[in-house]
Amino acid sequence: MTKAPKGLISPPGGENRPNGVRLDKTFHIITFGCQMNVGDSDWLARALAARGWRQTSEEDAWLFVVNTCSVREKPEQKVYSELGRIAAHRRGKPGLTAAVGGCVAQQIGAGFFERFPFVRLVFGSDGIAAAPDALDRLADDPAARVALLDFLPAYPERENVLAQAVAPAPLPAFDADAGEPDAGPAQAFVNIMQGCDNFCAYCIVPYTRGRQKSRAPAAVLEECRLRVEQGAREITLLGQNVNSFGLDPGGAGVGFAELLRQVAAIPGLMRLRFTTSHPKDIDPAVIRAFGELENLCPALHLPLQSGSDAILKRMGRKYDRARYLSLVADLRAARPDIALTTDLIVGFPGEGEEDFLRTLDMMERVGFESSFFFRYSDRPGVASVRMSPKVPDEVGQERLLRLQSLQNGITKQSLKRLEGCEAVVLLESMSRRQDAGEPFWRGRDAGGRVVNVRLPRREDGAGRMVRVLLREAKNHSLVGERVGQPW
Ligand code: SAM
Ligand code: SF4
Repeated sequence: MTKAPKGLISPPGGENRPNGVRLDKTFHIITFGCQMNVGDSDWLARALAARGWRQTSEEDAWLFVVNTCSVREKPEQKVYSELGRIAAHRRGKPGLTAAVGGCVAQQIGAGFFERFPFVRLVFGSDGIAAAPDALDRLADDPAARVALLDFLPAYPERENVLAQAVAPAPLPAFDADAGEPDAGPAQAFVNIMQGCDNFCAYCIVPYTRGRQKSRAPAAVLEECRLRVEQGAREITLLGQNVNSFGLDPGGAGVGFAELLRQVAAIPGLMRLRFTTSHPKDIDPAVIRAFGELENLCPALHLPLQSGSDAILKRMGRKYDRARYLSLVADLRAARPDIALTTDLIVGFPGEGEEDFLRTLDMMERVGFESSFFFRYSDRPGVASVRMSPKVPDEVGQERLLRLQSLQNGITKQSLKRLEGCEAVVLLESMSRRQDAGEPFWRGRDAGGRVVNVRLPRREDGAGRMVRVLLREAKNHSLVGERVGQPW
């Protein structure tokens, strides 16, 4: 992995020298990757707004922040093509500047300065706390470049932008390759930890995001309280492995089950979710919480990765099929309507047809409502790079299609079972597809399923809740009819 220099970088000479034209304080954020990146971009947008920067469209922006992900190979390549696209905006705006944050920034570091001269800030997952000040500095000093790539020993608490009297910036654009949609105005993502200690054989996260560091429970609670006061109805607690919250040296003696209880008790919080959970660490007290906490949504993303014990072992996941199935049974005993979703990797080195059939078998046994499937890709420095045999691409692609087709059938069946039931939906935004009738709004039920429902013309549904009679299951969503008024 590239070892990147730290702090302020003196500008190199020649073509790579920043051109010294002052930067107008308008910005546009482009986010790749997971919900943690979405949360980071949201915080950065607010922190910049608090410093007098203005969030604008791409056309009007002088500063582009690209918040990156390198968990898989494809998202990493997207960053380069995105920077190439941004370069086109430099015509007529010679001072246009880009900042690159997140995993790819941590990995490539100051290499970005060489390849894209208009990149003047790179920041890693711990460096983001100092990024707003660094950007102010770039605006004041047109010749400066800054690299914020050090890992810090404790969770880098960020300034509390919520407490400042600044109108919240709209959520930044989100281009997740996993296909997650934008969140609505009543949904907040709150970081509870950073990094990961698990070193699963395929995963780059411990290298790009560093070792696990739990945030102070009081800071988590304070942010959640402020979010609710400012209109959040749903909070998602975020971490790479939330089940091990508090167990690192920075932990304050409060485990994840206790933290969940404290957040759930915040007056006015209607929905609480969390992601991601590693099956090996899920505590029985967290499972019980699904049956006990009314506002804890009956939904859990529990990445399985593979249904083959041999592959799970090579992946270093530290659970097997039997343990996973017993967790599922316990979760369903605590909350029979819980909606389970998962991540699966196909084509991990050494995955044979028999292993893959075990994965299909687990999908049927568990009946996941939906899954994210990833074709295995080698990531620099991880253990599986040295594992063999590699699975040929055509085999991996064919397995992806088989997974998709099985999941489509399971999803359709589970949605069909809900036809005729009622659900409370938190509305996010207008649906993409409309017809001549009243406009469709799109939201989610407590299980996280997408529901489309019509609202009267000119009614703004964003952030409101509405009771819906679920009429029709589509392939990946439900269509319902409003019962009563939204609130
Ligand atoms: N912390 C979560 C967990 O333990 O399951 C996962 C976080 S990871 C950022 C998101 C997903 O990316 C993983 O669940 C895995 O399925 C996928 N992933 C990670 N590394 C990968 C690789 N090298 N190739 C393909 N998919 C990968
Ligand atoms: Fe990666 Fe494993 Fe950590 Fe998840 S638990 S972030 S897959 S190392």
